[in-house]
Amino acid sequence: MRVRFWGTRGSIPVALDAAGLHAKLVEALLKASERPLRSAAEARQFIERELDFSISHTFGGASPCIEVERPGAAPLILDLGSGVRGLGARDMARADRPRTYNVIMSHMHWDHIMGFPFFAPAYVEGNHIRIFGCHAEIEHALRRQQAAPSFPVPFDRLAARIEFIGLEPGRRYDIDGIAVTGMLQAHSGESYAYRLEHGGKALIYATDSEHKLEDPRESEAFAAFFRNADMVIFDAMYSLAEAVSIREDWGHSSNVVGVELCQLAGAKHLVLFHHEPAYDDAAITRIWRDAVRLEEITRGERPPLRVSAAYDGLEMDV
Ligand SMILES: [Zn+2]
Ligand SMILES: [Zn+2]
Repeated sequence: MRVRFWGTRGSIPVALDAAGLHAKLVEALLKASERPLRSAAEARQFIERELDFSISHTFGGASPCIEVERPGAAPLILDLGSGVRGLGARDMARADRPRTYNVIMSHMHWDHIMGFPFFAPAYVEGNHIRIFGCHAEIEHALRRQQAAPSFPVPFDRLAARIEFIGLEPGRRYDIDGIAVTGMLQAHSGESYAYRLEHGGKALIYATDSEHKLEDPRESEAFAAFFRNADMVIFDAMYSLAEAVSIREDWGHSSNVVGVELCQLAGAKHLVLFHHEPAYDDAAITRIWRDAVRLEEITRGERPPLRVSAAYDGLEMDV
């Protein structure tokens, strides 16, 4: 399975602003002044090899949307945040239509649905969109966000064939060759994690969940759900200090809890996701570095757990 991150920001989309870009340019130019850069190729090489990620890139600001791609199969989309607009634009530029999309919804908060009215393939007759999920109000929430006076095109005017298929948590389903199981998480308005299995690999999508690790039975249940996963995409919106103080009960988790749960589960790769919109690239990088360090010092006899921070545009194989 190839995993492509179209949107990785939580709560609300954000953009790198002029001041943020300016600060990156100042740091890059200061570093570059130590040597002559004579061509675009040399400049590119310098950017890639010598600048920190937080200076040379940005984590991006689209809200949650992930594509799971397999050769010869319809794309599987996890959540319809603002990132799905780019996915749709890519497909509209391709000639091979009509298309089928399988979508799995974690829950119905705005940041996870707001991209759908801007998903151009939904406006194309002949396309088929199948929307799966454990949440009871998926169709209602998607119709409501396009209702007047909030959006100019009502849901019924979408030309694609759109189907809603309810799932029961704890039951294993086959969605176009991928085995999918859902699990309820602690989050206002009900959010579901999903375990996706294909070709002997397991991918967990577990966003929007507050794990407190106070109740060992709850931690054990999630560890069992994450068991031996090849990749865990995890709601690590806050640092631990914030998660246990000012933002306790806000419905999200931290980098530290992500490391602990993945260690408990024997997972191989933790991907920090649903970044806090108030954090800049340097802050998200700090949260990632802290998680990497924590994993190193608490690893003990366990095999290493790889830790990444997702960014818009990141692609990885599972
Ligand atoms: Zn969210
Ligand atoms: Zn949410």
